[in-house]
Amino acid sequence: MEDLTTQTASDAGLSQAQVEEARARHGWNALPSARQAGPLRVFLRQFASVLIAILIIAAGLALVLGEVVDAVTIGVVVLLNALLGFVQEWRAETALAALKKVLSPKAMVIRDGQEQVIAARELVPGDLIVLGPGAKVPADGALGRAVDLRIDESVLTGESVPVSKARGDSVLTGTAVVAGRAEARVTAIGGQTEFGKIAQLTGSFGTKQTDLQVKLGGLARQLGAAALLVAAAVVGLGIFMGQDPLDMVMTGLSLSVAIVPEGLPAVVTITLALGAAAMVRQRALARRLQAVETLGAASVICTDKTGTLTENKMTATRIWTVPGSYAVTGTGYDPAGHIEQDGRRLRAVDDRLLSALLEVAIYCSHARIHQNADGWTMVGEPTEGALITLAYKGWCPLPGARDVLAEIPFSSERKRMSVLRQHGDHAVILCKGAPEQVLEICSDVMEQDAVRALTPEDRAAIETAYRAMAADGQRVIALARRVAPDHQLAEEQLTFLGLVGLIDPPRQEVRGAIAAARSAGIRIVMITGDSPITAAAIAGQLGLTIAHSLTGPELDDLDDSALSDLLSHDVLFARTRPEQKMRIVAALQAQGQIVAMTGDGVNDAPALKQADIGVSMGIRGTDVARDASDLVLLDDNFATIVRAIGEGRRQFANVQKFVRYLLSSNAGEVIALVVNIAIGGPLVFLATQILWMNLVTDGVTAVALGLEKAEPDHMEYPPRDKHTRILGLGGVVTIACLGLYTGMASLWIFYHLLDQGVDLARTAAFSAMVVFEKLSVFAFRSLRLPGWRIGWFSNPLLLLALTLTLGAQAAAIYWPPMQALLHTVPMGLAEWQIVGWFALPIVVVPELLKSLGRANHRPAPVAD
Ligand code: ATP
Repeated sequence: MEDLTTQTASDAGLSQAQVEEARARHGWNALPSARQAGPLRVFLRQFASVLIAILIIAAGLALVLGEVVDAVTIGVVVLLNALLGFVQEWRAETALAALKKVLSPKAMVIRDGQEQVIAARELVPGDLIVLGPGAKVPADGALGRAVDLRIDESVLTGESVPVSKARGDSVLTGTAVVAGRAEARVTAIGGQTEFGKIAQLTGSFGTKQTDLQVKLGGLARQLGAAALLVAAAVVGLGIFMGQDPLDMVMTGLSLSVAIVPEGLPAVVTITLALGAAAMVRQRALARRLQAVETLGAASVICTDKTGTLTENKMTATRIWTVPGSYAVTGTGYDPAGHIEQDGRRLRAVDDRLLSALLEVAIYCSHARIHQNADGWTMVGEPTEGALITLAYKGWCPLPGARDVLAEIPFSSERKRMSVLRQHGDHAVILCKGAPEQVLEICSDVMEQDAVRALTPEDRAAIETAYRAMAADGQRVIALARRVAPDHQLAEEQLTFLGLVGLIDPPRQEVRGAIAAARSAGIRIVMITGDSPITAAAIAGQLGLTIAHSLTGPELDDLDDSALSDLLSHDVLFARTRPEQKMRIVAALQAQGQIVAMTGDGVNDAPALKQADIGVSMGIRGTDVARDASDLVLLDDNFATIVRAIGEGRRQFANVQKFVRYLLSSNAGEVIALVVNIAIGGPLVFLATQILWMNLVTDGVTAVALGLEKAEPDHMEYPPRDKHTRILGLGGVVTIACLGLYTGMASLWIFYHLLDQGVDLARTAAFSAMVVFEKLSVFAFRSLRLPGWRIGWFSNPLLLLALTLTLGAQAAAIYWPPMQALLHTVPMGLAEWQIVGWFALPIVVVPELLKSLGRANHRPAPVAD
């Protein structure tokens, strides 16, 4: 508890004119932003790979040996590839930079006498800022009034124990408020702050690669090493079989290019980055790309209730007291309603008990309501906002700035709050909170005209009333008071006044989202600080089945194995303390679940970090919770988590699709090349042709595949196992079968046409391979569903990519300059016909298999 008697009244803060004047002098409260890599840098980065180095050496070698055309072709292909890589990476960079901008920090400030929330960058020196638990200090400041303020300064000092601060102390940018409340006068902003000075010294930190990127990078490296070995063996074999050594060196080089899926890392990055941008459109911001990936495997969502499942727009609708009840009309924070008893409208002056209740409602609070052009708005906690609105409805006199002498703040652990108020020549303690917590410290009860001892019958009556209100889904707050002749704020021997029932309607979209999550095999565990009865009522309204409900104290009595058993059922945790969330997450993780956990308070940070996906709230969440989270819900809405999981599933599925697609294309080329060299015939594809296939045509198609929409039934399956490989046995078999077919088919075409000249045969084999690769993409658009289920035209970008690449292939064989580069000759209808016949099964067989496969083993519906 902090004594507030020596404080001066909080002043009105700066005026708009003073703010503008200070802004002109000091600028904005922002650090010079870390430089985003410029376009030239991103372009040059494309050349920083071993593969490109090999190709450039190859081009040089060709030039020295007088093979000018080959050298130019390799140069053009390298350039085209770099250009493609640049476009992709640039899009990814700008998409990510845009994401970073979405979450700009906010600050609570008092200006012109009004508390308001503004963007932190608008702060100026001299501003009066308000700090509460979980807030990050937005600028350096000197403390004015401060109640129980404790600050975590570890970002600056490394010291993890929070430091207590009082009036006159300074608070530093970037540090976090762990507990208490305070007002501070801004002394420095932006680069002038301590944090700014350090940040400028250390620079910015880079983005971490996701597991997927790391794994695929590893796969690409392994394939690279294999490529070098195979290429060396093939070159040796070819020279041994009497092929031209120069041709063989070039073939060896192109073979390495054929094996390595160069496009892979870039395609993954762009898919994840564009996916993250798509998620923002769905109101979910992934703070790390990793989150998107993990989201797709989420099997349990632990969610709080207030604000996530409900609107967090509270309205007091009932007041219950021992002598009688009152009804309250009106909705939201507009005080245009009335307090009524037996059809009579009452005001504070008409009723002593009501007057005492409303005094607590208005004094024991930090919320403010005010009217502006859009109607009534509220700044502060919705629970308190609703009580203030109630006090306005009862015409309760408004408090003066110096009336509150001391405060014991609300916290989710204590679940109540008390203040000491100077009232005329005496002081009173006013307390509000969860009924259990308030009743615990009450010894008396107030009736209309008298205060008397609280009897067991009174307690039973209060309990019954509390249960009845909670069973309607209302949040129930108990109010109490006591005269304090000694001016000490001691939470004991209070007089119980009454209960206020607040409604907080469930969010509309949540019912559907809960049903969707259940059909996707995702369990939902509600963990709330509210009462078990209220929580169960809200769960019922939302269609969330609950087999057991458990309170925080009951959870403390449970050992780990009993908790684990309980967690196998539909369970609800109520009256929990934030630190208990951590234990619940750990217990679920021990069962092998992938847990998404929501949290908004400062004490939720450890649980958010422990969870596989920590989910914080963009509107109501604290900065500390946001910093600890992987995903931020921009609308605080539960339904958004379910949508984000859908998006995560889509992205993982798409990565699986294009990895298989790219590798099967490579496999076809490698099989054709190796078999042909073993036979000892003339080269089936030239080095430049392989480069063309892999670097130019495949990359574009794979990116388009990464943008494939979600499959219609993708939320009707249980979540994937966390160990699911991108490329399981099924994937390897598919790649091998398709590669064998396309490789052998193009080889057959080559030998079939060889009599008509090697150039024509090679052009036909080359074109056949390109056509095969392009058409095989349809097999990978879904790994389970046939084309008619996902819609042939549902990915227009893919169709565009196919048109462009097939057009480019036509140019490659009919346009003389490209003919020269790629050593092609025009093909006639007869050759195209052969290509067509071989291409047909590539489209038809997978469709047939998928249609039959679906009929045979339709996945079991997820148990309800
Ligand atoms: P959730 O955990 O789902 O967000 P919650 O908002 O009810 O639920 P807490 O904020 O921990 O969780 O609040 C716990 C209880 O404390 C509430 O049910 C209410 O009875 C009481 N309470 C909430 N806000 C205040 C407040 N500002 N002052 C006094 N008591 C409060």
